Amino acid sequence: MKEIFLLKLGEIVLKGANKRQFESRLRQNVRRRMKPYGNFDVYIMQSTVYVEPMDDEADVDGAWEACNSIFGVVSLCRCRPCEKDLDAIFEAIENYLGDDLDCAKSFKVESKRSDKRFPLTSIQLSQEIGGRLAEAHPTVEVDVRHPDYTVYVEVRDLAAYVHGPAVPGAGGLPTGVGGRAMCLLSGGIDSPVAAYMIAKRGVEIEAVHFFSYPYTSQLAKDKVLELARLVTRYSGKMTVNVVPFTEIQEAIRDNCPEEFFTLVMRRFMMEISQRIAKEDGCGALITGENLGQVASQTMEAMAVTGAVVDIPIFMPLVGMDKEEIVSIARKIGTMETSILPYEDCCTVFTPKHPKTKPTIGQLLNVEQKLDREALMERAIAGVEKIRVEYHDDPLL
Ligand code: ATP
Ligand code: MG
Repeated sequence: MKEIFLLKLGEIVLKGANKRQFESRLRQNVRRRMKPYGNFDVYIMQSTVYVEPMDDEADVDGAWEACNSIFGVVSLCRCRPCEKDLDAIFEAIENYLGDDLDCAKSFKVESKRSDKRFPLTSIQLSQEIGGRLAEAHPTVEVDVRHPDYTVYVEVRDLAAYVHGPAVPGAGGLPTGVGGRAMCLLSGGIDSPVAAYMIAKRGVEIEAVHFFSYPYTSQLAKDKVLELARLVTRYSGKMTVNVVPFTEIQEAIRDNCPEEFFTLVMRRFMMEISQRIAKEDGCGALITGENLGQVASQTMEAMAVTGAVVDIPIFMPLVGMDKEEIVSIARKIGTMETSILPYEDCCTVFTPKHPKTKPTIGQLLNVEQKLDREALMERAIAGVEKIRVEYHDDPLL
């Protein structure tokens, strides 16, 4: 008989009115994520998502890998369904887990009977199956306290399921239950991690990237698109809004005092991002800012850059150390791409002595030389919208 996956849902959020919405969104997300791997049936029963390949063509290993990065799943396992009958359960374990069992020094059986019509209690079932397995595998000891390997038996409504240890899922909330936000995505280490962190809370992610050709190259843009693609492994699809930023950066260089370059630039970024965000139905912005990391990331600098925006700005990395950020970047697979050496527009025209304690008054004053509105309108008119999805070919 075939193998299926059981994805267990987070328990805390399963209470109250959220449950319905949570479950139906998760089912929808899993269905969409399974599509590239063939024909799968996806259904939810008893706080568990069942993912069942419908034919032999289905790419079960690819699908399993994809299930590991679906938010809203706390743990998951591959299992073998069988009849709700002692002989069938024993036989399924022998066929499906017998080799794993032989490799272990000791084992136990853990059973869960959610179908209360099944005649044995969970404990009786574990004892009965454990006894039969001990007889069939005399070299493997029974150890109910610290077993090397645990065989699980779940007697559920439709069938019984046998499996080995479950693995932790991606956690978080199903993508989409928390609305949508726009991430300011650079080619660095931080912003892809920031996008991931907010996506984990059930938020759909769109991205905006400021691109200063020819100061930054086509490769720098591809790098950002590749980072976006890597994030969609967790967040689902994403549209990257590539904003032509050269004219604005040159206008700042030609008209503003050098110490304010970065701050004026970041205020443009924020305001343009907000306009695109509102058009695309996003209720918040996300940045990879981190307190104290660079001159533009002091409280005063954040106050003047945040002042041009009236929706929330999420900065999930604000209190983290670089090592913590890097370890998440490695875990989610964005690190290697982030450290490729293509420059970001932030490094173009960087002031030697940036202002670290600016005031809004100073910014309004230096910005008087610029026609901000016209510059922003032209930049937004030139936006290129590029859709990325994890299943696309890598861009680098
Ligand atoms: P990152 O590692 O994300 O590049 P950083 O530590 O280099 O961050 P900054 O360069 O000051 O910090 O940028 C702070 C944040 O501003 C970034 O995390 C990102 O959200 C946004 N940002 C910077 N440059 C760009 C860009 N070219 N396009 C879009 N967003 C950007
Ligand atoms: Mg950067």
